[in-house]
Amino acid sequence: MKKTDVLILGGGLGGLSTAYHLDRLGGRLSYLIAEAKRTPGGLAGSVRRDGFTFDHTGHLLHLHDPYGKTLIMDLLKGNLSVQERNAWIYIRGAYARYPFQANTFGMPWKVVEDCVAGYVKTLLRPRPVEAGLSFREWSLRTFGEGISKHFMFPYNEKLWRTPLSRMTTEWQGRFVPKPAPEEVLYGALSDQRKFFGYNATFRYPVRGGIQALPDALAARVSNLHLGCVATKIDLREKVAVIAGLGEVRYEKLVSTLPLVDLLDIASPLPPRVQTARRKLRYNTVFNLNIGVARRKVSDKHWVYFPEASFPFYRAGFSSNFSAAVAPEGATSMYIEVARKPGERVDLNRLEGQILSGLRRCGLLKASDKILTRVWLPIPCAYVVYDFDRTQALATIFPFLRDAGVSSIGRYGGWKYSFMEETILDGKRCAERLLGRERTGEERRMTDRPFQAELKPLK
Ligand SMILES: Cc1cc2nc3c(=O)[nH]c(=O)nc-3n(C[C@H](O)[C@H](O)[C@H](O)COP(=O)(O)OP(=O)(O)OC[C@H]3O[C@@H](n4cnc5c(N)ncnc54)[C@H](O)[C@@H]3O)c2cc1C
Repeated sequence: MKKTDVLILGGGLGGLSTAYHLDRLGGRLSYLIAEAKRTPGGLAGSVRRDGFTFDHTGHLLHLHDPYGKTLIMDLLKGNLSVQERNAWIYIRGAYARYPFQANTFGMPWKVVEDCVAGYVKTLLRPRPVEAGLSFREWSLRTFGEGISKHFMFPYNEKLWRTPLSRMTTEWQGRFVPKPAPEEVLYGALSDQRKFFGYNATFRYPVRGGIQALPDALAARVSNLHLGCVATKIDLREKVAVIAGLGEVRYEKLVSTLPLVDLLDIASPLPPRVQTARRKLRYNTVFNLNIGVARRKVSDKHWVYFPEASFPFYRAGFSSNFSAAVAPEGATSMYIEVARKPGERVDLNRLEGQILSGLRRCGLLKASDKILTRVWLPIPCAYVVYDFDRTQALATIFPFLRDAGVSSIGRYGGWKYSFMEETILDGKRCAERLLGRERTGEERRMTDRPFQAELKPLK
């Protein structure tokens, strides 16, 4: 039987970052990473086909933390571009700039009128925007009826596949920009070229798609076992069964698997944890990537589609992030469709509906030739923030902690987060495992020199 101090399940950014920082911060704990797929990277991995490099939909780097930014920029040194977001919303045959609530200019007048009138009512007769509101009620009180009806409701229902009256607002803070009244009004009357939100600019690898990032981390860790699926975990004995490796005995377990998957293979679970597990909800995203035989199909980065007549909620142009992801003279696109988990989907039929939708809105021409197509389903894509989530996690996480398990990353932590944050989750996890948890002040004092050197390539 193999033995290791730390068993890391998953070789996505969360797992790789944990291993990287275990080494970087001291190297006194042995670790073993078991990754189910044949390549590292998880959702931040890319797939190559017919000269195209496809990501799991758009995967753009938003760097906000000083340490995270320095580390990622060092890992991708010489291979990063910075770009200004060029994102739009398509409604009733017209385009509005993202975010819709600040840019209704360009929409049919009836839509602009609904949005402005509804918003003005929220100013004249404000209702308290208090903690504990559902997302639906919060949207009505914050943006008014028009903006809610034309964008917030249909778009979010299409994405989350959950009644918005059952969703909380905990997730929206940084993801839903809240413009000032003058910005909402100005943006209804003119083309307001102002940037709002956490992703107003982003970085993306010049070459290699987003896979370049996990590859750079993977090159700096050891003991990474690819094609090894964890199938069973005995929490009492601290033994995991891993296809391709057999039984592995560990002292500490770090899991980056979706929390629901971890709980499904771990035992024994007390009844209260089993009940909490059943309360965790998420959606599934079917991501169709296509290669189109036409240069620069659009100058946009991505477009949101709230209307029910389009099966997809978003379509993007990855060759506008990096020319290297498509052959010369071609365009690379990703299209995203959300479903409830377990819903039966006929991908051939869905593909036909997607292509017809793209032609209907004019992004594709009838004459466009599709050179290649790749479906990348994401079974657990967005964690649903409903009213059950917080309570369920308050039962599950302490139980796992007591069993010596750190469940981290976007899906292990059961949250809506992005790549930089996942890398930081791995760093914090390594610090905890090494007994090196630091206060905010210590971090501020020590992160700068610590950032400077990368762990050398193995
Ligand atoms: C549609 C979509 C768009 C996104 N866009 C962006 C974006 O633009 N910018 C951004 O910063 N972030 C974006 N993200 C978030 C980003 O993908 C995640 O934050 C990050 O990749 C999560 O990394 P992780 O290691 O936590 O999880 P994962 O990448 O899911 O890694 C988990 C790993 O565990 C492996 N695994 C699963 N089961 C087993 C098992 N039984 N045994 C062994 N291994 C197993 C998986 O193969 C996987 O490699 C997006 C996410 C989605 C869904």
